[in-house]
Amino acid sequence: MTERDNSNGVTGRFRLMNQQPVNLDGFATPAPELGLIAFQGTRDPIPSIIVENGSIVELDGRIKEEFDSIDEFIATHGIDIAIAEESMAIDSLQFARKLVDPYESRDALVRKAAGMTPAKLAEILGHLNAAELVMAMTKLRARRTPSNQAHVCNRSDDPLLLAADTATAVAFGFREIETTVPVLADAPSNAVAVSVGAAVGSAGVLVQCSVEEAAELAMGMRGLVSYAETVSLYGTEQIFIDGDDTPWSKAFLTSGYASRGIKMRVTSGGGAEALMGGAEQCSMFYLESRCVALARAIGAQGVQNGGIDSASVAAAVPGGVRSLMAENVLVMLLNLEACTGNDALMSESDVRRTSRTHPIFIAGSDFICSGFGSIQKYDNMFGPSNWNMEDIDDYLVMQRDWGVDGGLRTASEEKIEQLRRRATEAVSAVYTWLGLGDLTASWAEQAIYAAGSKDIEDADLMLPLNASATIMNTNITMLDVIAALAENGFDVEAERCLDMLKARVTGDYLQTAAIFDENMNVLSLVTDPNDYAGPGTGYKPSPVRQAEIDTIRQQVSVSDLRVEQSRYRSLDFHVSGTAEICHDPRDVVIGVSPATGRDIWRTLSGMLVRDVLDELLAGLEEEGCIGRVVRINDSIDLGIIGLGAARMSGSGIGIGLQAKGTALIHRRELAPLANLDLYSVAPSVTPRLYRLMGINAGRYAKGMTPEPVRNPYSDEAIEARYHTKVVSLVAIERECCSNDAPELLDIVR
Ligand code: CA
Repeated sequence: MTERDNSNGVTGRFRLMNQQPVNLDGFATPAPELGLIAFQGTRDPIPSIIVENGSIVELDGRIKEEFDSIDEFIATHGIDIAIAEESMAIDSLQFARKLVDPYESRDALVRKAAGMTPAKLAEILGHLNAAELVMAMTKLRARRTPSNQAHVCNRSDDPLLLAADTATAVAFGFREIETTVPVLADAPSNAVAVSVGAAVGSAGVLVQCSVEEAAELAMGMRGLVSYAETVSLYGTEQIFIDGDDTPWSKAFLTSGYASRGIKMRVTSGGGAEALMGGAEQCSMFYLESRCVALARAIGAQGVQNGGIDSASVAAAVPGGVRSLMAENVLVMLLNLEACTGNDALMSESDVRRTSRTHPIFIAGSDFICSGFGSIQKYDNMFGPSNWNMEDIDDYLVMQRDWGVDGGLRTASEEKIEQLRRRATEAVSAVYTWLGLGDLTASWAEQAIYAAGSKDIEDADLMLPLNASATIMNTNITMLDVIAALAENGFDVEAERCLDMLKARVTGDYLQTAAIFDENMNVLSLVTDPNDYAGPGTGYKPSPVRQAEIDTIRQQVSVSDLRVEQSRYRSLDFHVSGTAEICHDPRDVVIGVSPATGRDIWRTLSGMLVRDVLDELLAGLEEEGCIGRVVRINDSIDLGIIGLGAARMSGSGIGIGLQAKGTALIHRRELAPLANLDLYSVAPSVTPRLYRLMGINAGRYAKGMTPEPVRNPYSDEAIEARYHTKVVSLVAIERECCSNDAPELLDIVR
């Protein structure tokens, strides 16, 4: 610590804490007057309903004459009036308990919730703690099989990269792909590129291009995209009207999509009204309850919520992250598809962003992330996601750790390379055939191998703009794209795109929470309803799916490790005879483990075992001692090996060395576990430290008391990195173990 640090009056402990990423996040003192409060805002109404002559004349403390447009819409279209009074009479706490009771059926709860007002639903869900939200989500989500949605975009709207990255995202398991643009006019080109890339990846992948509402609907009508999601709802009239919108205009838009067989959900999320300064002193959760009620009222298939763009606003207040999850459960309780947030990056802290997602991840949701950034953060034109390409391996390992289906799977590098090549070829063929532009071979090659748009030098930044203009001006539709695919040998992809158009005619994927599996079967509330009713029920991955979850590319078996070790095999270890007890006081025996020079050649630090021995021998020699290398065959225990070596040596001092690199110094008369010096952290031991151990052993042999050698300090997760290897190496050692007498080894170069 320097003097200046002291003079600032900041203790070392706080200086260190202040440097942690979580302290880059903003945290707000609760301010109910600004809507900066998760639950129980000062002007959240007491739940109430009065029905007269079949219509609602009072809703949550407000009489019909005072209704704003949101109240009006909810009262008219959002509540099942037939059961409203009965539902509203249920005690909120009792109903909250039913949400986590496995013996209460989802159907019964959903039916009753349909008669409840926004304030009533907010009151009920406000009773659930974090663990109860997990239980409620497990039970209440509509679809049995969980899924996941990815963002695929890039800074240059590069169609080759979009297609390659979409095929990649699909290979990793995403079933909905959402793209957007940095340049609005590029949207049609992006929609075509992503749809083609999706078809290369698999059948039945839904594609969205999130842009201005009219443009988005136009692309949907042309079949260039297959779902929509970014129709925004707000919980106060003031904010709603700011966007030139009303519940009626949103309902009209929703119907527009449905009329063309396009799946459509709306977007809302706690904190949005506070962020825009129009929360009207209400809590985030109550306002979101109004949004979700409205979503149901306008006939949307589902809701993307859980903060979304304002997730960090909700997360800035106490209980905010809990309220984000409660929003998602609310959607499920109202029998809608839930796309459960986890899209915008809500914290700089890896710990905190994982904490935000994890309960939803283990509960399972229709779409766990409403936008997992399957591309690099910098290419995400929505802004970085809570999960990004950088995190895919983490996510896959989390699935494996918990045995949870988070919707993703491992993909091999070979498969990804092949899909990326196919995607660039398909999109190039389509662009050439339809006169959208010439995507050069060198550009395509860069797109195949790029980790992001910064790796691409040959992109023509004007091409997406020109392609988009051509698409719009010449009325290109998905049928033209399909023809281009079919004419150029991409029959499979053409078929998959055509199947998606056919699905729009049959309309089965307009059912709640509908996705397609890879064989174009619709999984929805109707065909794949969530039937969770306690342990042993509900979604269970198929054996094939479980294997995908359990198998990650990083896993290593004993035989993998044998192959790795065999690469370092050498003929340097010669047995020169049986080891005898020696009486020379300068003699120090180095006892090595049974697999040394048989199956293990390299230590965990990466040093070859023979190089370790060279250092130990050189250290002994520096002290005027003579080292002998003896393979102890009847034990893999380092203490026994070291003690056995000491008992054979003329000096009474021995060194024990396991082939994985762990080493100690022992003395003849000591107990096996009572060694003199020990390197227990084999992965961090350096040549210099082995030399030092040789020197120390020599000094002990001469009767001196040297300063003991110590393990090097490290803040790495050494155990996490090496323990599985240790298990395998120990297994290999054990196989080499025998009753054979100790053997004298010569190390010959
Ligand atoms: Ca989304």
